[in-house]
Amino acid sequence: MRYLIGSDKYHVMGNWNGIWKAQAPHKARHLLWRLCRGCLPTRSRLLERRVECTLNCPVCDEEIEDELHIFFRCAVARDSWSAVGLSFVLHNATYQQTSAMDRIFAICSNESSDIVGRVAMLLWCIWQNRNDKLWNDNVQMPRQIGRHVFDAWNDWTSMGLCFRDNSGHFMAGMTQWQQTVISSVEGEAWVLLLAMEEARHRGLNRVQFESDSKILIEVIHMERKGNSEFLSIVHDILSLMSSFINFEVKFVRRQTNLVAHTLARAANSWASFHRINFDLVQIQSMSTLVSISATDPEA
Ligand SMILES: [Zn+2]
Repeated sequence: MRYLIGSDKYHVMGNWNGIWKAQAPHKARHLLWRLCRGCLPTRSRLLERRVECTLNCPVCDEEIEDELHIFFRCAVARDSWSAVGLSFVLHNATYQQTSAMDRIFAICSNESSDIVGRVAMLLWCIWQNRNDKLWNDNVQMPRQIGRHVFDAWNDWTSMGLCFRDNSGHFMAGMTQWQQTVISSVEGEAWVLLLAMEEARHRGLNRVQFESDSKILIEVIHMERKGNSEFLSIVHDILSLMSSFINFEVKFVRRQTNLVAHTLARAANSWASFHRINFDLVQIQSMSTLVSISATDPEA
């Protein structure tokens, strides 16, 4: 949350937690966050910042482009919601607020993190399409946008996260949706950040985090900085570690036999450390949108 603006004038009330819990790629959650902060450069936002430009929607050229129009009211957007099977959310009487932010916060409060995740992914694709039209004059049909959202979900798997104490006993488990095909190191970083958030939430302050991603651990130890999505997650990890000086990260080799791996570690006790073992266990591959809702890990 390093972009938080100090002034009360910009303080936005809402269910931010619902945004971060969305089962969607980091980039899609990040888009929701930017949207709710009023940070997306829609044409009406640009006008507020005194940037001279036409106000019309770059997609339909019929109405003024603000967040509500581009994501909820534009004909292409509306058809995309239905192409991806989310028109029940779009037309729900509970979500007819006059600002896009209020609609999103209401959706985050009422819908499961699975549905919120799908909405986030859809909004991300709508925004991509809008930019593609603006910069490359490429137009996609709502069916194609729907297909794009659908394909993004196909790359997802559910990951398990196990919390074990220092004698190797299972403390808690949680699942998190992760994209495995594209940039798995980004996924590893995201899960590490999530594990740290969880440890902080549980009040554990001496924790050794193990990862089998050598790249991730090296980048953390080198304190690399940059603008990529991966390095922006690493930045958040480093800022957590600077407040919790007894958080350590360590590289461990992935073992073929997970049970042996866990038992071996249990025998080798680090007395004062909690051990958070975040070996990622692939639970199942998702092949359809239907199976995603059927296997909601929170159900
Ligand atoms: Zn439009």
